[in-house]
Amino acid sequence: MHSTTGAGAPAPSDRNSLTIGPDGPVLLHDVHFLEQMAHFNREKVIERQPHAKGSGAFGVFETMEDVSAYTKAALFQKGVVTDMLARFSTVAGEQGSPDTWRDVRGFSLKFYTTDGNYDLVGNNTPIFFVRDPMKFPHFIRSQKRLPDSGLRDSHMQWDFWTNNPESAHQVTYLMGMRGLPRTWRHMNGYGSHTYMWVNAKGERFWVKYHFHTQQGMKFFTNQEALAMSGSDADFHRRDLFEAIARSEYPSWTLSVQIMPYEDAKSYRLNPFDLTKVWPHADYPLVRVGKMTLNRNPENFFAQIEQAAFSPGNTVPGIGLSPDKMLLGRAFAYNDAQRNRIGANFHQLPVNQPKAPVQTYMFDGPMAYHHSGNAPVYAPNSGGRHWADNTGTVADGWEADGQMVRSAYALRADDNDFGQPGILVREVFDDEQRDRLVEQVAGSLLGGVREPVLSRAFQYWKNIDPEVGHRIEDKVRGGSAPEPTEGMGEGSAPAERKRSVAPA
Ligand code: NDP
Repeated sequence: MHSTTGAGAPAPSDRNSLTIGPDGPVLLHDVHFLEQMAHFNREKVIERQPHAKGSGAFGVFETMEDVSAYTKAALFQKGVVTDMLARFSTVAGEQGSPDTWRDVRGFSLKFYTTDGNYDLVGNNTPIFFVRDPMKFPHFIRSQKRLPDSGLRDSHMQWDFWTNNPESAHQVTYLMGMRGLPRTWRHMNGYGSHTYMWVNAKGERFWVKYHFHTQQGMKFFTNQEALAMSGSDADFHRRDLFEAIARSEYPSWTLSVQIMPYEDAKSYRLNPFDLTKVWPHADYPLVRVGKMTLNRNPENFFAQIEQAAFSPGNTVPGIGLSPDKMLLGRAFAYNDAQRNRIGANFHQLPVNQPKAPVQTYMFDGPMAYHHSGNAPVYAPNSGGRHWADNTGTVADGWEADGQMVRSAYALRADDNDFGQPGILVREVFDDEQRDRLVEQVAGSLLGGVREPVLSRAFQYWKNIDPEVGHRIEDKVRGGSAPEPTEGMGEGSAPAERKRSVAPA
């Protein structure tokens, strides 16, 4: 077929602009040329602020177990198969940045359910750096670029982390081997936040989502990741696309931890604190189903770049929780999409629900779907439906008290250094601890100055006195003071399940 203009008329030429004679000047009324250039100038949308570099694929989620005792969500009923989209990403790097830089990875899922779109917008880590959304823009800026040189800066990163000790768990995770996944196919994903599930009887539960890779976990060493950053900046994007093109469809099992609604009130740590996990021993994993990615995008821009996820997109049977970060994100994501793509981003094919839409949000730039000549207000006498639920909210929770600006009230085990200490001592083995020390020392030697440097040593000693000492010793070239017991508030006992190599 002959190419056309955007208006559908035959295009005059896609090779030659209109000139006076073969060597003459270009004419202003070469509308086809002007339209091509003007559109080209606008063919990028603003990149995502965090999570700019990524890619994804379509697939299916199949619920294989009966979890109807916990949720009535249509997609989580046994035997139901739901179409879905996944997008993986780095956090700090821009569009062209290497996939294999050390970073947390985004793990965003959109389920096109019969009750509307359900988005689960998580990471490859079960926790996060901060637990109050007020801190989020500051955190992201500290991981991006300096105002004067436009360079990334270790000093700025460690300044933020050490001024916000709740980051210790996520920073430990990031500096460990999971900070360098070999591919997206070889990493786990987590919903990270606590969400609510509601069953058909109206009973409520708190849940945490765990997606376990069926490809096995694989990692890069620093050297491998560095070499890959130089030779193939798009390695993770390429790996996923090519695996699916070869019909090697990656899959993840979904399990959830389930906490009875009332437990949250008295559990020994705040179950809504995004910097903490729920120990498996307290809340074991309950298997739900399996997600398989089996279809590549046909057009990266239309289907991945314009894909719009929001943790605020829930469906009946699933709700939010009093996790402050989650409540902040429930607003921020769709607002980012409006800024990035436009007010009617939800009308684009990749974002369109497969369930019928009957919304009073109308008009705006690029409006495509509309309600015809039906009333544009509710209630109305024109027969157009409107929603009218009143009374107790099915997926709500009780809240009371004075309005305050305050951190969460502390519970018995709410200690910023406790869980990272367990991770370092009881989950990491000797080799992983050695690599952690190398990695952190290397990062601190990359331009971190006083007083941030001393604060960083104390931060690590609070996580684990011995690991902290080894890091300081390495950075100071063997002249760190000998470790002492009880190194500050929240310092964890130096007991280990596994033996540790001497510093
Ligand atoms: P468990 O021993 O029951 O669980 C430890 C979990 O740690 C494993 O199930 C695995 O989770 C994960 N893990 C294993 N190796 C590593 C690693 N090198 N880096 C990061 N995570 C790893 O103990 P707890 O549940 O009491 O948790 C202990 C610590 O484990 C926590 O403080 C937390 O740091 C970490 N962790 C806990 C998770 C949880 O939900 N309870 C989830 C992930 C980590 P997985 O199978 O999900 O990979």
